Amino acid sequence: MGTVDRSEVLGRQHLIDPEICIRCNTCEATCPMGAITHNAHNYVVKFEVCNACNACISPCPTGAIDNWRQVLKAEPYTIEEQFDWESLPPQEELAVTPGTELPSEVLAATAEAVAGQGGVVAAPSSAETPRVGIYSLRNPAIAKVTGNFRLTAEDAGSDIRHIVLDFGALAMPVLEGQTIGIIPPGTDEAGRPHYVRLYSVASPRDGERPGYNNLSLTVKRVSENHEGRAVRGVCSNYLCDLKTGDEVKVVGPYGTSFLMPNHPGSHLVMICTGTGSAPMRAMTERRRRRRHLKEGGRLMLYFGARSAGELPYFGPLQSLPRDFIEVNLAFSRSPGVPKRYVQDVMRENLSALADLIRDPNTYIYICGLKAMEEGVLGALRDVAASAGISWDAVATEMKDQGRLHLETY
Ligand code: FAD
Repeated sequence: MGTVDRSEVLGRQHLIDPEICIRCNTCEATCPMGAITHNAHNYVVKFEVCNACNACISPCPTGAIDNWRQVLKAEPYTIEEQFDWESLPPQEELAVTPGTELPSEVLAATAEAVAGQGGVVAAPSSAETPRVGIYSLRNPAIAKVTGNFRLTAEDAGSDIRHIVLDFGALAMPVLEGQTIGIIPPGTDEAGRPHYVRLYSVASPRDGERPGYNNLSLTVKRVSENHEGRAVRGVCSNYLCDLKTGDEVKVVGPYGTSFLMPNHPGSHLVMICTGTGSAPMRAMTERRRRRRHLKEGGRLMLYFGARSAGELPYFGPLQSLPRDFIEVNLAFSRSPGVPKRYVQDVMRENLSALADLIRDPNTYIYICGLKAMEEGVLGALRDVAASAGISWDAVATEMKDQGRLHLETY
């Protein structure tokens, strides 16, 4: 009898743990293959479409995405089976030929196949340990709105709001850089409950107001989609229309890597556009409240918007002392002024940024719309090249050390 080539027969099936998944749609939105879909019950992966590229692994806020089983290629778990799951099935013992014992290499391959991908960038080694997933879909926290203020000019095209949520007697420990999930009320056209949307916390760990059990969000009302067509974003409009006293269902917190270092003397380079400013505000405010401790470390902000009127927190930013934070603003649609994007301003500052990139105490944070990613990474590549450093090498090293963080959506 001829031998069976097991790689022909066995496959690695990517699965989502329905017990941990918060149905936030991040994986479906991220997957370049269109391999992820959902029904009202579960998010699932199409075996025949997923190419295990791992693009979805790091953006998943809960880690529910990082599950794998070794299966017979001819008999993977079907979409319909996955839709019905309440929990993941255990790894089945697979005998390629019925009745034969599993050789050790198959057991080893199975163990490897079932292991997670990891793929999440390390947190700064001195970061506080974050709490995650305290509140779930089945057990959300109920927060009360205590503030909802427009941050952008009344005549500005975009409506960005500062929303304050109070958790009363409920514990909601969050660190700067973490996100929470909001459950919008109601259902979509197919009658499925709306999926959870994630929002970065804009306040530091001791709250929007120290001594209060609250946090703030920076939310942009989505009134046109990425292609510029008019739409009414479900969750952003829900949040932007909230009134003081309204109650909101919250899950989370999430995020174990986009965190700030805790040790004195660490430098933060913060690069953002629009609502990507939320985690930067949280980190800046954390440092501002501890300024009297004279812990040192530079803060450098690159912040882009279409115009000053569309830049959230423009006023408060202007009043921060220049010996506390270096603020570099870029406006891409200011009347009568040439377009400037964050990457343009970064290139104007090559030597200052190159000095920081060389410094092992520098932590870089990038946050905003996906569209900013390419330009900003290109500018960092140029900064590194100007210092005679390979960006690829330095980026890998910084990621391994928890010093380079990217969050785009
Ligand atoms: P949907 O109803 O989901 O979408 C409606 C349409 O608009 C869709 O076609 C969609 O593709 C498009 N669309 C969605 N978002 C945008 C956008 N921003 N610009 C243009 N078109 C869009 N948002 C914030 O406002 N503040 C934050 O701090 C924030 N932090 C986030 C952190 C993470 C890790 C992630 C993954 C996302 C974050 N978001 C943040 C985005 C947020 O989760 C929602 O995606 C956003 O509010 C749109 O949701 P919606 O329900 O209003 O729109």
